[in-house]
Amino acid sequence: MHCFTHPETAALAVCKYCFKAVCAACHRDSPAGSSCSAQCEKEVEEGHQMMTKAKKLYGIGAGQKKISNAVAMYLFFGAGFWGLGLFTTLRQGAFDWTGASIGTLFFVFALFVFYSEKKSGVKC
Ligand SMILES: [Zn+2]
Ligand SMILES: [Zn+2]
Repeated sequence: MHCFTHPETAALAVCKYCFKAVCAACHRDSPAGSSCSAQCEKEVEEGHQMMTKAKKLYGIGAGQKKISNAVAMYLFFGAGFWGLGLFTTLRQGAFDWTGASIGTLFFVFALFVFYSEKKSGVKC
């Protein structure tokens, strides 16, 4: 893998926001993660804060190893669709299969991403 802006230089990280590969010269490090530009650094920082709040809210990752933003995002959407499904279920008095199956799909995605990241050791 090579740097997005310097094709001749080997990349050492991937921007957490736009997923571009970055070399040592382009790499920006922050507590939230790697990024490629000031703009991305800001987005990564904001996303990180949002995820931290969401994780606290849903108790995701409490006492566990840190999960990646991608996994947290899928879990977040999964929970969201399930919540929506349950809301529709209560309102209509019939089980909302659409919301539940989309929510489940996101949970499956989260699991899939989680395990593939574990295998490859790459976290986005
Ligand atoms: Zn970027
Ligand atoms: Zn570079």
